Amino acid sequence: MRHVMKTYGRKEISFVRGEGIWLFDSNGKKYLDALCGIAVTGLGHCHPSVVEAVSEQSKTLMHASNLYNIPEQEKLATELAKISQMDAMFFCNSGAEANEVAIKLARLYGHKRGAEKPNIIVMEQSFHGRTMATLSATGNRKVQAGFEPLLGGFSRVPFDDIDAVRAVGENNPDTVAILVEPVQGEGGIRIPRPTYLEELRDVCVKNNWLLMVDEVQSGMGRTGSWFAHQQTGIIPDVMTLAKGLGNGIPIGACLAKGEAAEILTPGTHGSTFGGNPVASRAALATIQAIAKESLLENAKRQGDLITKRLKEAFDGNRSVVNIRNKGLMIGVELNESCGQIVDLALESGLLLNVTADKVVRLLPPLILTDNDSEVMAGMVATVIKKFLSK
Ligand SMILES: *Cc1c(COP(=O)(O)O)cnc(C)c1O
Repeated sequence: MRHVMKTYGRKEISFVRGEGIWLFDSNGKKYLDALCGIAVTGLGHCHPSVVEAVSEQSKTLMHASNLYNIPEQEKLATELAKISQMDAMFFCNSGAEANEVAIKLARLYGHKRGAEKPNIIVMEQSFHGRTMATLSATGNRKVQAGFEPLLGGFSRVPFDDIDAVRAVGENNPDTVAILVEPVQGEGGIRIPRPTYLEELRDVCVKNNWLLMVDEVQSGMGRTGSWFAHQQTGIIPDVMTLAKGLGNGIPIGACLAKGEAAEILTPGTHGSTFGGNPVASRAALATIQAIAKESLLENAKRQGDLITKRLKEAFDGNRSVVNIRNKGLMIGVELNESCGQIVDLALESGLLLNVTADKVVRLLPPLILTDNDSEVMAGMVATVIKKFLSK
């Protein structure tokens, strides 16, 4: 890796093949994948429908340009509109890019309404990406450090605190939008109380702010519904997607509804690759497979099963502070830094990660069977116990 910039603390493992819930490294060792490339391969590795869609499209046409119609992109937009109730969307290549669109859209919306310095309310412990705008929106000093001056136009409040949102909004008449993750992923699988999004929706309606939900990690069935916010009564004005959208082929999207869907006009935004034929076909195949294989129901079932088994395994164990999940976003919070668990898991043939220093995070594939989940929960419990017994 001498000629690759050292932006990652990489493990000395090279994966060379994937099949369903399994990954294989260059030594032929097999790993159970409870991470999915960070919430990407929800259908498992090399799902036949996605493989076929990508291979077929690659042989037909890989790229033309957004200067022309892209029928595959239009088809994808139609399907995404159906499952999200959104009106229009912009396609890009990643989560950060999708959030850039949301931020630009909110600023245009604000200027249209006469705001001099449009302000977006963002949350502590949030993660929205690594570009300058999205790292400025992110609630994590480690992500921001060294990149000052940050982009202005963001006010930060504690997550799951509606009064703080109201206070900031009342103090700043230029407030135009709220950007929030329905479940904070990088922040440690933090799940707000059930009424939080509805309260945010109400505040937004009352003040004519846009409610923008970052579903880059929580979307595409991972939490047991197409999008996590659908488990509440709300419809957002803007939603961003990426990670699981193409099951491994890079694609992101910013979806909008009503007035928000009309804000971006010709010349205000663009992307060379966004929504290209191959990526669009991959996303379309991903959506179809999730529906056909009833994976929304399964994500909830398997997430609850794994969580139940983990709670049984750590019942009364005071080193484990909390075990929580929304479908297959699962967090096991310990009372100490536990980054070493990643290596112990690798040794035992299991992929997971640790986020927010103390939270073991599982983002397993949506295709797990009951038996897979039993095996996975057992391996996770064993690894955590091994770490705690040291
Ligand atoms: C991963 C993530 C992003 C950034 O996505 P990239 O594709 O890495 O740019 C943004 N928001 C959330 C909630 C994420 O989990």
